[in-house]
Amino acid sequence: MPGILITSKQNLIRIGIEHTGDMASVTPEQIIRADIRALSAYHVAEATGMVKLDAMENPYLLPEPLRGELGKLLAEAAINRYPDPRSPQLKAALREAFAIPAELDVLLGNGSDEILQILALAVAKPGTTVLSVEPGFVMYRMIAQFAGLNYVGVPLKADFTLDEAAVQAAIAKHQPALTFIAYPNNPTGNVFDRAVVERIIQAAPGLVVLDEAYHAFAGGLSFLDALARYDNLLLMRTVSKLGLAGLRLGYLVGKAAWLKEFDKLRLPYNVNVLTQVAAEFALRHVAVLERQAAQIVAERGRLRAAMAQLPGVAVFDSQANFLLFRVASADNVFAGLKARGVLIKNLHGAHPLLNDCLRVTVGAPGENDAFLAALAAELEARR
Ligand SMILES: *Cc1c(COP(=O)(O)O)cnc(C)c1O
Repeated sequence: MPGILITSKQNLIRIGIEHTGDMASVTPEQIIRADIRALSAYHVAEATGMVKLDAMENPYLLPEPLRGELGKLLAEAAINRYPDPRSPQLKAALREAFAIPAELDVLLGNGSDEILQILALAVAKPGTTVLSVEPGFVMYRMIAQFAGLNYVGVPLKADFTLDEAAVQAAIAKHQPALTFIAYPNNPTGNVFDRAVVERIIQAAPGLVVLDEAYHAFAGGLSFLDALARYDNLLLMRTVSKLGLAGLRLGYLVGKAAWLKEFDKLRLPYNVNVLTQVAAEFALRHVAVLERQAAQIVAERGRLRAAMAQLPGVAVFDSQANFLLFRVASADNVFAGLKARGVLIKNLHGAHPLLNDCLRVTVGAPGENDAFLAALAAELEARR
């Protein structure tokens, strides 16, 4: 019985091991929570050899000679030691790169996904609710479920703006401990009306987390300046979309009274030595990353205009590094693009408001051209 650690008494006897004591047969059905067994694992599409425009990655590496300098720093990093759990240099670099006021605290996560998990665990009392809007970032729902929390997803309007009355009614009814709002929103790409978001912050009885994963592409729009004004507001960001997705680093900014509680749940060595060194180095050169982001924003405009010219394509406005668009038969167009070597994200079936919607990440000019050519050819072939 190779690879099986826990086996039944019958099996032990069959393979010649006598066992006289009581021995129960243990199955996942008996031990693993039913709601976890009912889940399917987060699906990451195989992308080898494809033009990869499915995951909001920055298409650019750091340029030489920065890559060489980084290599040298990594070679000298003390990988024999545990990382400094307080990550002081990295935090200082983050504060400087993103102008985080000294009076606010910073908490680091192994990706901002881990911060979501910390937040959910911290509030996870029986009957507690997490609220967000939909279509939105799927991890809000997933992590709420992992932590055993109720999840309420309030639908956006058909144009993906906030349905303020519906959000306010849901807040009044469910009294959420945590409300997540992505700004700009994923997968729709738009930013919500700031005044509406502020009224939601004012009405919420619990914490409101503004998730600014796409801050680098949003033309400076941010709630960073609002943190001082609202006691229940937290701001979450990630360096993933900015060009450092492989490092896994997210951060939460807010008042110390909140962050010192969350810090108790953070595993002490959650940000590893190599990430600390590499992220600090990259952030000391944040202007390079910001130039890449500006290139992506320029490409977003070009790509959007070109897509709008294609018959049968409705493309939505975006303040992020991706574009959401609608076609006549998204499943087929998605499969056709894949067959032509271009991987994007199919959102058809993810939410009623996303019927026949696809999402393409803005890549390097050549990748965007390859996508445009494949999309034009696919639509032509389907006519
Ligand atoms: C990509 C994304 C994240 C996750 O970022 P990581 O730091 O890579 O875990 C969080 N929120 C939103 C809205 C995202 O799109």
